[in-house]
Amino acid sequence: MTNELLIGKNILIVEDNAINQMLVKYAFAKSGANTIVAENGSQALELMNQNKFDAILMDIYMPELDGYQTTDIIRNQLHSSIPIIAMTALAMKGEEEKCLALGMNGYISKPFSSETLFQEIKRVLEFTEAIAS
Ligand code: MN
Repeated sequence: MTNELLIGKNILIVEDNAINQMLVKYAFAKSGANTIVAENGSQALELMNQNKFDAILMDIYMPELDGYQTTDIIRNQLHSSIPIIAMTALAMKGEEEKCLALGMNGYISKPFSSETLFQEIKRVLEFTEAIAS
């Protein structure tokens, strides 16, 4: 599914589970967006040093640096306002609130459809572009 807003966008997928990495990458396959996968937060921060990303999809539970710790570093040490969407396992109570309180911009529960994924990315990108303009 091609999506005007996603064409040429660089999306960083931070996810430690190989199957989920594949599913998310596959969802973007014909979207026009470029994707890079990081296996954990440390790798994500390294990739952010070397590339310019338009949005991050962030798993929460990962070895080394988890999604909460990584988001905290991105917001409070890198002072980056890059849109971050949390990808979490089904409905842990209070998790959405915790993600948003840490400065994430959106939230989707796994497993999700590519429609849900794109809708959420579209929402945060349009919101960010509206602020920037
Ligand atoms: Mn995980």
